[in-house]
Amino acid sequence: MGKVICINNNKGGVLKSTTTTNLAGVLATQGYKVLVVDVDYQSNVALSFGLNPDMFRTSIYDVLLNKIPAEEAIIKVHKNIDILPSNRDLISFEFRVIGDNKKYPEPFYLMVDNLSHLREQYDYILIDTPPSLGVMNGNVFTFSDHVLIPFAPELFSMRSLKEVIYTITELKELHNPELEILGVLRTLVNGVTNLHQDIIQETNKYSYETGIKIFETVIPVTIQFSNSISYHKVPATLLPEKKRKSASFDKSELYYELWYEMAEQLEGSAVK
Ligand code: ADP
Ligand code: MG
Repeated sequence: MGKVICINNNKGGVLKSTTTTNLAGVLATQGYKVLVVDVDYQSNVALSFGLNPDMFRTSIYDVLLNKIPAEEAIIKVHKNIDILPSNRDLISFEFRVIGDNKKYPEPFYLMVDNLSHLREQYDYILIDTPPSLGVMNGNVFTFSDHVLIPFAPELFSMRSLKEVIYTITELKELHNPELEILGVLRTLVNGVTNLHQDIIQETNKYSYETGIKIFETVIPVTIQFSNSISYHKVPATLLPEKKRKSASFDKSELYYELWYEMAEQLEGSAVK
């Protein structure tokens, strides 16, 4: 039975999509079968695999709202990676669900009802989420086993991180007692500043006090990495090893390190 991990934070631009697609690349390279579900209408998952979201006739929207089988919308993008893409239809998702109580009496269970069978077909299902608190993320948290929280400590305060965690804890109590916070990934950190050291200490202290895991792997802010994504039409972690290890792509290695840390929790110490 595959595990479901959502990548969530209520802020935009903190590397949710980048982390989701690069982790998919790492998992696929390790031999796991991965499904990436995109529930953000910006469709960054498809874009990072070089696909134009406007070409999808069926998407996650039809699967959740019109009971179209997920298999009809799923697209293979790599030997071990399938995506369940979004498109702009998703903009009206919340509106539709909230507006039709008869058709959708349990608005947070659309994902559980329509995607649960996919757990049997994949080792991991990763979900890229929108930066909002609404019906869609309610569905995501109800369906997921784990949440990975990318957090950009130089852009947002600790208070914003606490809010995200509070919301997840509340939802867990109401809808999904099994939901676990896998950990917080510090992103877009500028390693050369004094602020960097302060932030590392502050987040470590928070982890110590709350028991919430903060991954040791930190994703620094780099220009090369952000440029590389759209250009190569695959997440950086899927580039050939030689290219990946060249200076400008060395940051993709960090997603491998992140996986080794995550694997201890998800797989025991045995990394495939
Ligand atoms: P989110 O999904 O949280 O909105 P994204 O993953 O889309 O955030 O990332 C926001 C932007 O940052 C994207 O344009 C992405 O290409 C770019 N980016 C990714 N990794 C890095 C990095 N290490 N340093 C700087 N920019 C990055
Ligand atoms: Mg995104």
